[in-house]
Amino acid sequence: MLLIIEKNTIIELARLVGGEDAARVMKLLLRKPGIVDEEMASRLKMDIRDVRKILHKLNEMGILHYELSRDKETEHRIFKWYVQEEQITGFILTNMKKILDRLKEKLESEKNNQYYWCGTLGHPRLLFDEAMDRLFRCPVCGKPLSPHDSEELVKALEWKVSEIEKALEEMTKLKKVEEIEQGKK
Ligand SMILES: [Zn+2]
Repeated sequence: MLLIIEKNTIIELARLVGGEDAARVMKLLLRKPGIVDEEMASRLKMDIRDVRKILHKLNEMGILHYELSRDKETEHRIFKWYVQEEQITGFILTNMKKILDRLKEKLESEKNNQYYWCGTLGHPRLLFDEAMDRLFRCPVCGKPLSPHDSEELVKALEWKVSEIEKALEEMTKLKKVEEIEQGKK
């Protein structure tokens, strides 16, 4: 049995690894297996060096592979890129578990702690002791710190955790089926 993973999951994975550009590269690769890097760059209107950096990164993770050939006229090396869809499941499972653990930790610490914050995005939120040490002033801008109501953040985290748990459960089921199928051979 060939395990088919949702294309969106693969794109999401690329996004986690390399940001929005990596997600765009992955999307194109899934649509055009065997595409060469120059064509990717021109289609995505990206710098060829950025495209190669992303390809290299994804290749190191083992979720892409390439075929090397030579242009008959110019003798230039040509790399044709493919997504390793069959090997991606295991990779996603391990990494999603890691992401899930991190999110859960964050969720716990949001639930169990009261943070103090100046209200400016990007400025640190401090725990009570740290805030007291700084006399309830933001270490970056000096504005007064007030208790940060993290209800929205907690809700968002809880939602994300449940989404990932659902996805993992689905994939684990699929993987078991695949192993049983392989065992029969
Ligand atoms: Zn501040």
